[in-house]
Order: sequence, then C-alpha cells, then structure tokens
Amino acid sequence: MAVPKKKTSRSRRNMRRFAGGNRLEKPTTITCPTCNEPTRPHRVCMCGYYDKKLILNPKIKTKEKSTTQNQ
Ligand SMILES: [Zn+2]
Repeated sequence: MAVPKKKTSRSRRNMRRFAGGNRLEKPTTITCPTCNEPTRPHRVCMCGYYDKKLILNPKIKTKEKSTTQNQ
C-alpha cells in the first residue's frame, strides 16, 4: 500500500484547499450543548466546556498584578 512519506503540514494542506481560486470551505460546526453556540467539533468551546465537562474556567483571571515600586 502506497503511503505518503511525510505528513502534510497544515500550511500545505491549506494551500492545496485554497488552490485554484477562492474556493470557500465551510467549516464544520456543532452546537455546544452547554451554551448553544456553534463551535468547531473536538475543540473546547469558548464557554470552557467540552463533552459537557468544564475544561477551562474563563472566569478565573490569571492577571498578575505587578508590584511596582515607585519610591
Ligand atoms: Zn459552549
């Protein structure tokens, strides 16, 4: 069985897909069961849930206050 020697990179794959003019590729979307927003499949939704489980908590602010010493 003939097998490609190298994995096609994202760049090359996209170049192939957009070769030959402005071919519009509609991205596959699913509806998030948590927030009912259209999202890409197999990716964590912007609400932080994946497979109805909390993966990311967007409410947690990871900003660290830099203590500036001005005197
Ligand atoms: Zn969501």
